[in-house]
Amino acid sequence: MGQIYVVGIGPGAYEEMTIRGANVLSQCDVIAGYTVYVELVRKHFPEKEFIVTPMRREEERCELAFKEAEKGRRVALICSGDAGIYGMAGLMYEIGRKYKDISIEVVPGVTAALGGGALLGAPLVHDCCFISLSDLLTPWEKIEKRLTAAAQGDFVICLYNPSSKKREDYLSRACDILLKCKKEDTVCGLAKNIAREGEISEILTLRELRDKEADMFTTVFIGNEETLVIQGKMVTPRGYGRERNRI
Ligand code: SAH
Repeated sequence: MGQIYVVGIGPGAYEEMTIRGANVLSQCDVIAGYTVYVELVRKHFPEKEFIVTPMRREEERCELAFKEAEKGRRVALICSGDAGIYGMAGLMYEIGRKYKDISIEVVPGVTAALGGGALLGAPLVHDCCFISLSDLLTPWEKIEKRLTAAAQGDFVICLYNPSSKKREDYLSRACDILLKCKKEDTVCGLAKNIAREGEISEILTLRELRDKEADMFTTVFIGNEETLVIQGKMVTPRGYGRERNRI
């Protein structure tokens, strides 16, 4: 019986990988992943063999990982952040139906929303949801529906894949949908290159966010009705104040 680990390596810095993730990588023979992620971990595991595949070749990457495991090698397939959040954990189980002798173990990681949330302050302290603006695998109409529902439910919203070269105006289109039910001065945040070189974060209003350029290395945070700025940080109250006032 072969074994494959699907490992979330966290947002970037080695320090933000979990100890379990690092242990699994150090015990593997082969580490497979997309070029950018492999470059993030390579120097910490110099003795390993790496299988590098370009972006959008996800199925091929999974197949290669299974083929290596079939040879009896210990394989880790790496994803940034957490492999279960817009990562490859699901695809590995789907493709894994063909490889009945290989078992899959998912090792969790710190997703961009958590890394970026800590950078911005404490934006996710209440109910929140993740929405990807990429319509490569999801029809845009469905994304619009989810944005509207999240705004109506007053969730704090984390936007993944906010834009790319081919989808330059997606963030402003998303903000226009949110602005139908949310106030223009809703507190929002951007976190770019979290735990990587060039890390920056910024707090701004939903109106300002609408005209902001984001890229594929940015995660966007949209506050709920109560989110506020405290000493330059984005904070969503959990409601302790209300609780105190009741006493
Ligand atoms: N599995 C990853 C998400 C992959 S989808 C995770 O759990 O974090 C890719 C999107 O994630 C990017 O477009 C961006 O919105 C976000 N992202 C991933 N890593 C990031 C980082 N280091 N800094 C900022 N955003 C990041």
